Amino acid sequence: MIPVTKPLVGQEEADAAARTILSGWLTQGPQVAAFEREFAALVGVDHACAVSNCTVALHLALMALGVGEGDEIVTVSHTFIASANAIRQCGATPVFVDIEADGFNIDPALISKAITSRTRAILCVHQMGMPCDMPAIMRIARAHGIAVIEDAACAIGSEICDGDEWRPIGLPMGDIVCFSFHPRKVLTVGDGGMLTTRNAEWDALFRLWRQHGMSVSDTMRHGSREVMFESYPVQGFNYRMTDMQAAVGREQLKRLPAVISCRRSLAGIYASAIEGIEGVTAPAEPHWARSNWQSYCVRLAPDIDQSGVMQDMLDHGISTRRGIMCIHMERAHGDLPRPHSLRRSEAARDHSIILPLYPQMSNDDQMQVIDVLAGAVSRRRCAHPISMA
Ligand SMILES: *Cc1c(COP(=O)(O)O)cnc(C)c1O
Repeated sequence: MIPVTKPLVGQEEADAAARTILSGWLTQGPQVAAFEREFAALVGVDHACAVSNCTVALHLALMALGVGEGDEIVTVSHTFIASANAIRQCGATPVFVDIEADGFNIDPALISKAITSRTRAILCVHQMGMPCDMPAIMRIARAHGIAVIEDAACAIGSEICDGDEWRPIGLPMGDIVCFSFHPRKVLTVGDGGMLTTRNAEWDALFRLWRQHGMSVSDTMRHGSREVMFESYPVQGFNYRMTDMQAAVGREQLKRLPAVISCRRSLAGIYASAIEGIEGVTAPAEPHWARSNWQSYCVRLAPDIDQSGVMQDMLDHGISTRRGIMCIHMERAHGDLPRPHSLRRSEAARDHSIILPLYPQMSNDDQMQVIDVLAGAVSRRRCAHPISMA
């Protein structure tokens, strides 16, 4: 069986977790602090704050901007449901705009029309690791005086060209960037998240909020030679990462460069093979972006039966997923108004599939995926529609 993804974890992660357990310090402590320092250094940002997952990272990012009841956040429907859940958790309303015609990210040309007097922020998603067109998004945000949160759940290791300099996703072009360390992503600690920002005040708030709004951290109290009493200046949450997870994350960071270069070479092999399969289009990478290829999503021509292709591939031992979900089509958010066309989002969901891609994949595995895909696509083409001419 070839799965759609497989986390790359090994003895190093297991040893790091074991060492942490045996150290006696289990929850947010020295390992979390070290993971944050190393993560911040990797993306070149001043502040990185670790939390339990990306969904709560998005929640804290929205809170730092003061998002609340009655506010609107412009975002995409074509994303994982957590993006909208975090917005609604603040009492705000996601306003969905469509994706680009030839990509899977927000179409900057559609943002202005969706901005109203209630818009507080744009929440853009670097979908499947592909960077959004940040310069275009930032021009619109600045013109309207609104903030930008980058949902980079999938995008650790991706890069974007700013002027003539390549910069990693996580060094914010917007205001706050949120990452996920779920096993479906490129770097995993089981479950975890990270917020990066240049704003020291927001970073201080994240640290308060993630730890019950408590004024003193456990490490400070533990290390103090004098009796210390904590206070609770704000209402907080328990959004902590554990030290076991952070220890695993530090090992994952060491692997990251090799993982990214391996994913890029696998994506390159897919791209050239797919050129030869009629009716299948490889994902485009703009000249100003370098994806980490968290997911490799191909589009199928409209006359190809998506679920038929997926079933054929599964019958051959190859697991795939359909394109990214559309939040507006799920009952959980079915009550939201839908003033903007989301046709491209729906088409992306219904006419694309995600192929297996993970560093442990062998050449043979990949050739098998390509062969089986080609066969499935030719079998699952509808008879040519009769011309109306
Ligand atoms: C995975 C994902 C999330 C949620 O991340 P968790 O760490 O599981 O909370 C949010 N947004 C996007 C785009 C994702 O892909």
